[in-house]
Amino acid sequence: MKTDILIAGSGCSGLYCALQLPRDKKITVITKSDLTSNDSFLAQGGMCMLKEQSDYDSFFEDTMKAGHYENDKKSVEIMIKTSPEVVRDLVSYGAQFERNEDGSLAYTKEGAHSTNRIIFHEDVTGKEITSTLLREVQKLSNVELLEYTTLVDILEKDNHCYGAVIRRPDGSLDTVTATYTVLASGGVGGLYRHSTNFRHLTGDALAIAGKHNIELQNPDYVQIHPTTFYTRHPEDRSFLISESVRGEGARLYDKNMNRFVNELLPRDLLSQKIHEQMAKDDTDFVWEDLRTIPAETLRHHFPNIVEHCREMGYDVFKECIPVVPAQHYFMGGVKVDYQSRSSMENLYVVGEAACNGVHGKNRLASNSLLESLVFARRAAQDMAEQDLKNALPQNASKIADYLASHVDFTPYQDIQTLAETYHHLATQAITLGQNPEGRKEFLYV
Ligand SMILES: Cc1cc2nc3c(=O)[nH]c(=O)nc-3n(C[C@H](O)[C@H](O)[C@H](O)COP(=O)(O)OP(=O)(O)OC[C@H]3O[C@@H](n4cnc5c(N)ncnc54)[C@H](O)[C@@H]3O)c2cc1C
Repeated sequence: MKTDILIAGSGCSGLYCALQLPRDKKITVITKSDLTSNDSFLAQGGMCMLKEQSDYDSFFEDTMKAGHYENDKKSVEIMIKTSPEVVRDLVSYGAQFERNEDGSLAYTKEGAHSTNRIIFHEDVTGKEITSTLLREVQKLSNVELLEYTTLVDILEKDNHCYGAVIRRPDGSLDTVTATYTVLASGGVGGLYRHSTNFRHLTGDALAIAGKHNIELQNPDYVQIHPTTFYTRHPEDRSFLISESVRGEGARLYDKNMNRFVNELLPRDLLSQKIHEQMAKDDTDFVWEDLRTIPAETLRHHFPNIVEHCREMGYDVFKECIPVVPAQHYFMGGVKVDYQSRSSMENLYVVGEAACNGVHGKNRLASNSLLESLVFARRAAQDMAEQDLKNALPQNASKIADYLASHVDFTPYQDIQTLAETYHHLATQAITLGQNPEGRKEFLYV
């Protein structure tokens, strides 16, 4: 197979990248699962934006503070300054966000934000944004979307990426040559026992980068979300009780129903405090009280959470719910520059798979959708510019064809062995660092 741009991943970063690329390019988007099974669809709380110029310094400071000041300042600046353009794009595609009576955007707040600056659509903001992007992409005749098609490796020579090896839905293996390849393959939650992520998100970009000596950045920076619904079945995907619930006033209690912590601490500190309290009380969870939020706000803003708790046997209007921290987000990833270029020529990485340093050591709530979109857009713009400059080596297409026709498929044939090898590569990258949070509870190491 031949294409101009191959994108692995149909979450918000992969789709927005496809939308921002020139229409005269053939774009192929592949996804390991179906088109809507990705973390972008799960995002509940919302997406940050620069609501007015006067909030710039405070937004910048909140992001830096949550990130322990290890953030790349220029990435943070780019993200914040580009946010109004991205929101304009989303609105122009038809995405609906909560509005005030005068029609202006309404903003909510989450932990570690010093003001309301998060746009939202009930508690299903990610679904609203990503289904809108998907609808737009599906209108494009230059974009082909292939479900249940997995990128199992890249085609590489002399640190230049020429496309990928893929597994098709029937299990057959094939090659795709591409001028540019974009890894938009999401996070690492599938490596963990307790995670809010889809289980098929197993850090494939990290593993493939490790295999090909592509530079990584902060691979040990893994975020644990403080509040997910406690279940006795650890193999279930952990259901998130959004931070904005705490932003709206929810309280956390120990086993004696006493409040033990400031609920709006940054995620890493709050998770730590909850783990400490659970150890002290010898419990598997703490209690979260949503009754402190006006019933109408609960019903209107958090219908999905209310319904999930009801299905699990809890009436949030009358009783507390059990919550526990779980793996949630990957701040580290494949190292990229401000245009989302990796250390390998013609290989871009966007979204949660990438690390441009924007989040530092810990992500501020609701900065992830924004970061994914801003830097996916920059990747698309850069590819378009490179193409105009005719920056490709003259014999690139010949090398690509040669590589594609000489692939030894043997190492990719046994899917289980390949998954274990990649699992090992990804977990090795995460555990090599110094951050103990990230090491907790891998499925198997
Ligand atoms: C429960 C939950 C709530 C969240 N809430 C918020 C929020 O309120 N605000 C916020 O900003 N962020 C939130 N986040 C984080 C945010 O949703 C993600 O960081 C973001 O959506 C990641 O987008 P992505 O495009 O990088 O990856 P994803 O949306 O996860 O997409 C990854 C894609 O890659 C595909 N893929 C993976 N491996 C391969 C492979 N080898 N070959 C081909 N395809 C592959 C997958 O099938 C999928 O299509 C939340 C996350 C979760 C899990």
